[in-house]
Amino acid sequence: MRAAVQVGYGSSDTSLLVREVTTPRAGPGEVLVRVAGSTLNRKDLFALANLTGPGIRARPPLPHVNGTDAWGTVVAAGEGVDGWHPGERVVVYPGLYCAACEFCVRGETSACTTYGVIGEQCWGGHAEFITVPPRNLERIPEGLGPEALACVGGSWLTAWRALISVASIRTGETVLVVGASGGVGTAAIQIARAAGCRVIAAVGTQWKARRAMESGADAVVMADEPLKESVMALTTGRGVDVAIDSVGGAGWRDTIGALVPLGRMAVCGATAGDAPSISIREIYQSHRRILGAPLGTRAEFTALLRAFAAGRLAPVVHAVVPLERIHEGLRLLERREIFGKIAVAIGEA
Ligand SMILES: [Zn+2]
Repeated sequence: MRAAVQVGYGSSDTSLLVREVTTPRAGPGEVLVRVAGSTLNRKDLFALANLTGPGIRARPPLPHVNGTDAWGTVVAAGEGVDGWHPGERVVVYPGLYCAACEFCVRGETSACTTYGVIGEQCWGGHAEFITVPPRNLERIPEGLGPEALACVGGSWLTAWRALISVASIRTGETVLVVGASGGVGTAAIQIARAAGCRVIAAVGTQWKARRAMESGADAVVMADEPLKESVMALTTGRGVDVAIDSVGGAGWRDTIGALVPLGRMAVCGATAGDAPSISIREIYQSHRRILGAPLGTRAEFTALLRAFAAGRLAPVVHAVVPLERIHEGLRLLERREIFGKIAVAIGEA
């Protein structure tokens, strides 16, 4: 099969090669899926850079195939797999979970004691075929196109959990989306809007500000404006009820400062840095709640898929690149020249 194979660390130009590799087989308890499409995520860049540190899971040795998201068609079911048949169209839940530990039994599959992510701990979706546990498969509802499927994956699932399950957004609340042009951010705008919230989007450039407004934001704050003061001006000095921040870094403190007393901040990424400087008093003296929210659960994945199928969410896809030109997509992601997901077209849908 053709696959984007990581063979080294550093620039994708030299460490990622699109080439032939052995097509996997469905082993016991596995399903073989012919991949129609995948997406790019910032974690693909982290893998190429061999990023390490607190909260970063160990990666298997190279060569490796990245790609957290995948949808396509069932080709074969391995020994002991019931209920899945060749030709069924499926989308893959990106979390690897045991289904038996304390957290899985509670439904918290992304807190599994042996938790991993497809494309990280096993080969991922940047290939023509992938093998996955059947519990990760969800049938694709009729009428759901490739743009929506590019959004039923890690980024949107993270935003869904952060806002719906963790921050528990309610109709009429104001939500600040930091890093509003990325995969998680563009998802957060849509999900908050669909929940009846007012959305303030923080973005870096004018064209992204335009796109954020077109996609449903009620107001934008530019990166060269002081975030906290701008948010206060937009909320008559009150602050936002909820913030979602997948960026971290030096701006993290301002995100906290933009919260109303008792406000909630969902933290789901650290693409700009994971060790901001912050006074603890800024958190507890204002009753602010900092909530960790990585990938959503298996049940939340189903809920996200149903929301798309019901037309409650509109996909936000910046570009589609074929597998053979995956490097072009990675460069866009690296330069942050995106508004929404970059989808990777691999096989027939
Ligand atoms: Zn588990």
